[in-house]
Amino acid sequence: MKRLLAILIAAIPLAAGAVYEGPIFDAHLHYNEDAVERYPVGTLMELFSKNGVKAILANSRPNDGTRALVEANRKAPRPGFAVVPFIRVYRDRADYGTWHGNPDIAKMIEDEHKRGYYRGVGEFHIFGREAASDVVKRIVDFAVANDLVLHAHCDEEALELLFAHNPKARIIWAHTGFSTPLDKVEALFGKYPKLWGELSYRWDVLEGDRLAPAWKAFFTKHAERFLVGSDTWVNQRWQSYPETIGYYRRWLAELPPAVAERIAWKNGARLFGLE
Ligand SMILES: [Zn+2]
Repeated sequence: MKRLLAILIAAIPLAAGAVYEGPIFDAHLHYNEDAVERYPVGTLMELFSKNGVKAILANSRPNDGTRALVEANRKAPRPGFAVVPFIRVYRDRADYGTWHGNPDIAKMIEDEHKRGYYRGVGEFHIFGREAASDVVKRIVDFAVANDLVLHAHCDEEALELLFAHNPKARIIWAHTGFSTPLDKVEALFGKYPKLWGELSYRWDVLEGDRLAPAWKAFFTKHAERFLVGSDTWVNQRWQSYPETIGYYRRWLAELPPAVAERIAWKNGARLFGLE
């Protein structure tokens, strides 16, 4: 009986219903051309407002969607809301597998940067030795020279190659490697002080509907190194945007409030000078 009671108690979430209620910095957002018709800019702005999202790290394929977000927020600025625009490396789907060897892409980034408002390059996908190319080095060096942050969806080998091109690079690691073991993530954080982990699709942070104890400890230890993101790479992710933000708010509430606020907002705000 005692044992049964213990099991029952363990099954009840300790802080049922509690959510982190502070601001969110959405550090992984795409506004691709397939989303534009169904989700006009005004609709997105409402969505951000309703979900307490106060800043978005925005990029799009092609870059038109990002420009539209920047321009909308300039024309009718929303107090306390910031668009942090990134240059995407894909003009269309055909660029996905070839961009890292194509000098036209480096040139496109350099031209797009002339608009004067970009804060980074990415998200881009790169794996293993693909990252060793001259084009990738040119892009990493350009980013460092222009104070741009890189947003990389990559494996560990490519991540190390990006930093080898230029140790001054600042990199947001999309999905924190998806499944990279925590001891490996910790080693990389130790080796590269300018590396941040973004947490979309990193489903192992939860065990059931609670934070996994190992992650809870890891977040507390490395509170300054994580960001959350929606990764709206297809329209279904726009449709479920409130659920995605709600998912973060639920597990953030299990962390000490100062840690939750860092991961949800402060790390991104600090990285881009929004404080
Ligand atoms: Zn993405």
